[in-house]
Amino acid sequence: MRAAKKKDKEQEKTKGSHQNTKRSILTTKIINIIYKDGLKTIAELCEDTHNSIPSITQIMNEQTEAGIVKSFGIGESKGGRKPVLFGLNKNAGYVVSIEVSRKYTHIAIFNLHNEQLGQTHEIKQGLENTEDIFKVLKDECNTHITNQNIDNNLILGYGITVPGLIDIKKGMSLSYLQFGNQPIEKSFRELFNKPVFIEHDTRAMAWGEAWFGLAKNKENVLFINIGSGIGLGIIINGQLYHGNSGLCGEFGHIQMNPEGELCYCGKIGCLETIASGAAMVKKSQEKIRNGKSTILKKVVNNNIEAITLKNIIDAANNGDLFAIELIEEAGEYLAKAMSILIHLFNPEAIIIGGEISDAGNLITDPIQQKLNKYAMQRLKQDTTILLSELKEKAGLMGTLPIVVSNTIGAIE
Ligand SMILES: [Zn+2]
Repeated sequence: MRAAKKKDKEQEKTKGSHQNTKRSILTTKIINIIYKDGLKTIAELCEDTHNSIPSITQIMNEQTEAGIVKSFGIGESKGGRKPVLFGLNKNAGYVVSIEVSRKYTHIAIFNLHNEQLGQTHEIKQGLENTEDIFKVLKDECNTHITNQNIDNNLILGYGITVPGLIDIKKGMSLSYLQFGNQPIEKSFRELFNKPVFIEHDTRAMAWGEAWFGLAKNKENVLFINIGSGIGLGIIINGQLYHGNSGLCGEFGHIQMNPEGELCYCGKIGCLETIASGAAMVKKSQEKIRNGKSTILKKVVNNNIEAITLKNIIDAANNGDLFAIELIEEAGEYLAKAMSILIHLFNPEAIIIGGEISDAGNLITDPIQQKLNKYAMQRLKQDTTILLSELKEKAGLMGTLPIVVSNTIGAIE
């Protein structure tokens, strides 16, 4: 008898915890739906999650009381009483997004409506600096958080993007900040004492486009990041593709010229040695030394070593023929490499982003033109070539859904 009672109690307990788990899964689902889609009525949430009005109402009441959800007025009536619209309380939590590049770092804070608070904070230090970067980042983030008048307790987590080879399963960078065997994600968690999620810089940009940019509501999209290097972000069936060990997207290191230059990756004639920002800068310097006339020389006060990709893009936008031709040539090689991607992936769109997006048509026109030469017409006509509109915000915004879905959107 006693044993049976005990068994009953245990069963009840299991049933109770099972119901709790079920409810917390549903809560997570609802938070993620309203984070992604914005305002929703209870009836819409019932439809989206295939649940009953009482269970959704109960969750919304709990979350409203906790200050995570709030009502945003009255929606359209579909017959009967006008329903209340629910959305996330934008000040219930904040995400700190950090983009660490080789030479600089960007820090930005966003609320739960993905609105940026203040301006992006730029630090002229990056991965080329040694272990100091950890202390610098901590100090700069704290200053930025204080400047935005945010209570540190409301920081949900940090999203950090890093270039190079990243194994996100292990939270490791295989290219930078390797101090011993500790994954950098763990080092950053210890540093900030908050949840931290790392992602590859280009993949974060692609994810930013998928949530907030030109890839929104598209299923199969490629994103090419052209800055000093060349990276590829792949969205397949609406999901960010990471590859078997998280190392996919090394588009810049496919061989374009077997007789070409040695790349920093150790291989010969990679796309990066021909069509990246670094390659354009190097080519401009060589040609200017050989007497080519361009306004670039004046822009850098004859200090040819100081030329940057930005200088080239600005000069091209100001009509400098030499700079226009440099970008055009890069675009032609990119088209050749992109035709391989089109043939392999049959994407709906390829978004050109990163620093080169400031060149506008000067980069997309030569790409479009040469794709006619290299890509099969039937495949090419199904792929739209687009220029990123999020530009430098793409990577910083790409970490937001990752942090939100793994913190406030992962309620226990
Ligand atoms: Zn290479």
